Amino acid sequence: MRYADVSYWLETAGDLTPRPPLDGSIEADVAILGAGYTGLWTAYALLEAEPSLRVLVIERDIAGYGASGRNGGWCSSDAGASLGLLMRRFGRERARAAQLALYAAVDDVGRVADVEGIDAQFRKGGQLHVARGEAQVPVLRAAHDEFVRAGFEDRYALLDRAALAERIKIRDGAAAMYTPECAVLQPGTLARGLALAVERRGARVVEQTEVTGWEAGAEPVVRTTRGDVRCDTLVLAGEAYLSQLPGMRRALLPVYSLIVLTEPISDEQWRAVGWEQHECVASMRLTVDYLSRTADGRILVGGRGAPYAFASRMTEKLSHHAPTHAMLRAMLSEWFPALRGVRFTHAWGGAVGIPRDFIPSIHFDRRTGIAGAHGYTGHGVAFANLAGRALAGLITGRHTELSALPFVGHRSRKWEVEPLRWIGVRGVQVGLARVDAHRAHSRRPARRTLVERVAQH
Ligand SMILES: Cc1cc2nc3c(=O)[nH]c(=O)nc-3n(C[C@H](O)[C@H](O)[C@H](O)COP(=O)(O)OP(=O)(O)OC[C@H]3O[C@@H](n4cnc5c(N)ncnc54)[C@H](O)[C@@H]3O)c2cc1C
Repeated sequence: MRYADVSYWLETAGDLTPRPPLDGSIEADVAILGAGYTGLWTAYALLEAEPSLRVLVIERDIAGYGASGRNGGWCSSDAGASLGLLMRRFGRERARAAQLALYAAVDDVGRVADVEGIDAQFRKGGQLHVARGEAQVPVLRAAHDEFVRAGFEDRYALLDRAALAERIKIRDGAAAMYTPECAVLQPGTLARGLALAVERRGARVVEQTEVTGWEAGAEPVVRTTRGDVRCDTLVLAGEAYLSQLPGMRRALLPVYSLIVLTEPISDEQWRAVGWEQHECVASMRLTVDYLSRTADGRILVGGRGAPYAFASRMTEKLSHHAPTHAMLRAMLSEWFPALRGVRFTHAWGGAVGIPRDFIPSIHFDRRTGIAGAHGYTGHGVAFANLAGRALAGLITGRHTELSALPFVGHRSRKWEVEPLRWIGVRGVQVGLARVDAHRAHSRRPARRTLVERVAQH
């Protein structure tokens, strides 16, 4: 496999030559499955807490091969679960604590990139949730109300049509909510740079080594294609890929999220669009759409649309689902008529991991020696930083306020068995797409539909 073809981010992230694989059976204090953000932030925080720990990161492909090297580059303070859902499940105070920890995580990503000399192109330009058309305005207001109810009104400003147009000229931009609590970054250089940073701190990263199973217990044994690893703790940091492992098949739903990228846009075209502050932008569409400005002057358009595959099958073909890529390309000129005719140079995708209740989990059981964090529902860039620091605290016994976050120890219920899972998930995917299509043509404020209630997060 040519790893540079995985995404534009990896293509432009420097040397991708795989590190040597594991060479026979060994011992480690902490073994980590997966060299994405979760695994690497955990290794980083562990070695910061206890520099003498023997930390081994085991990666099947190369560091950043998974979602961490493919994502939309939003380092956002949104969790996969909305603040409203967190308040309903855990109460206002615990939901507030979670949200404050996420604000801090956004900044910590930028801080560490800086300290470690990682060229992650971190730029904190904030985030705009845009109501495209009157039908999306009530959904936007409801989202704003949640932040007000939690006491974060000072961080979320409602913008009317004119104030939005001053920032960015989006066709049908009826209103928006702006928050400064979001940055944009280059995901690939962040993942690759973090792998080097943990190595500098003493971790060993092995690539081209697949974990095939493990035995839990006082001294877990991790089985890999290149030998066994005896350790005190095994950290499962494989996000959507965990759904392919024995015993985890119903823990997460792998759903493909896709991206297209334009050529660099001319100065004249940028003037027609505005967007000088490089905000991350999304509409209130239910099937997810988002746009960002890259450091080299391109526009990234992302969204969902690839159908869930029966029995949670994961295949690279779904990263290249042609109708979804075509829909994303068409979105650019729908949003910005002035950009009609702009060329697209790249298209890729990857899987996000969705837990049954949309709430991410961070867990450690000293009895079984198994730890992990997963279930970010496509919002893992900042969350994985928080999860890594929380896991390091749990594993080393140096508890911080992160140990009390509602995600810690949270267990989502399992997804349904097949074929019920496929029928339900496809039903929701098709239903949400229909509601979006209807609202796109409706001039009236929308009412909340049944399918939204079912899929609420
Ligand atoms: C297209 C796309 C766009 C996204 N956009 C955003 C965004 O803009 N903002 C945001 O916050 N989040 C976004 N996300 C989600 C975010 O990228 C993820 O939540 C985050 O990267 C998850 O990190 P991770 O380390 O847990 O998992 P991953 O990055 O997927 O890492 C898991 C690693 O485990 C390895 N692995 C899997 N199985 C094994 C095995 N058996 N043995 C050894 N290694 C194994 C994989 O190769 C992989 O490298 C997006 C995701 C996708 C796919």
